[in-house]
Amino acid sequence: MSEIPGRYHYSAVMMGTRVELQLAAHQPALARQVFRQIKWLEDLLTVNRPDSALMSVNRAAGAHPVVVPPPVFSLLWRAREVSFSGGCFNLAIGPLVRRWKIGFSGDAVPPAEEIAALLPLTDPHAIRMDPEAGSIFLTRPGMSVDAGAIAKGYMADRICDFLQAQAVDHALINLGGNIRVISPPGAEGWSVGLQQPFAGPESLLGSIRLSQGSVVTSGVYERYFVHQGHHYHHILDPRSGYPLDNDLLSVTVISPHSIDGEIYSTQLYGMGLEKGCEWLATQTDIEGIEAIFVTRDREVIIPSQRQFCFRPASR
Ligand code: ADP
Ligand code: MG
Repeated sequence: MSEIPGRYHYSAVMMGTRVELQLAAHQPALARQVFRQIKWLEDLLTVNRPDSALMSVNRAAGAHPVVVPPPVFSLLWRAREVSFSGGCFNLAIGPLVRRWKIGFSGDAVPPAEEIAALLPLTDPHAIRMDPEAGSIFLTRPGMSVDAGAIAKGYMADRICDFLQAQAVDHALINLGGNIRVISPPGAEGWSVGLQQPFAGPESLLGSIRLSQGSVVTSGVYERYFVHQGHHYHHILDPRSGYPLDNDLLSVTVISPHSIDGEIYSTQLYGMGLEKGCEWLATQTDIEGIEAIFVTRDREVIIPSQRQFCFRPASR
């Protein structure tokens, strides 16, 4: 991300990643409130600790419904709807994520029969949600929901809502590469860097200029391990139970809201380049969704570029 003089940077390590807030004015008290809110949302949504709202749903799998706070309910409702679409995004992917442990200590290729045995526990139709009660019931023992693919985007949107309610109109929030920006009318906007696959955050493929909206990437290089020369990354194919294998290193989605960027980056990654481009061309009713595909041979493909300007890095 470019450093623009006169902007104030605040950062913290949270959720195993760097969270960064940039504001146009020196507002440390506001920055503290932002980090507190992120912590609060993380405490609701994490599955990496036993005591979150999401984990109380998972612990009650096969036993009883659990009432969750309204933000958790609405996020899971949306994620469950998307999981019915037939794409690769699946809220009920938890048992496979926990078994593979990709990017965490102890990650290894599970025996094929174990993967096959877990697949029936990842059926999103077995997630029952009651809007009246605000409760969620995972109807089979051993099921679990995982918000890893959407939590950061959801948080970025909530933080922008909060900032706008505080009359802040010029800010960037970066949750480990999941970015949302706001700018006042007429401002030049923000320059958001697009990371080179398998390189550090400073090594850029190029940058995007954006005044409002979100930039989210799903890629094979964020969390992975290598076993016998094979690369196993953290986006799993709910049909096979194995990491998705296709022609892409990453998909970046530019969208008004970060939650949509999260959902569509995972869905488009699952479709691969050709189907992804075809799908994007048919989605004239989904407002403002744009994508940048990076192929395995590091070609950058941008099907359209209506609302942002991509500048390749000079080599
Ligand atoms: P990052 O956390 O690096 O931004 P993503 O947003 O692409 O990555 O989400 C990857 C995470 O989503 C995985 O670590 C896992 O928790 C979860 N996940 C893996 N496969 C799926 C899937 N098919 N559908 C939904 N979530 C998934
Ligand atoms: Mg995501």
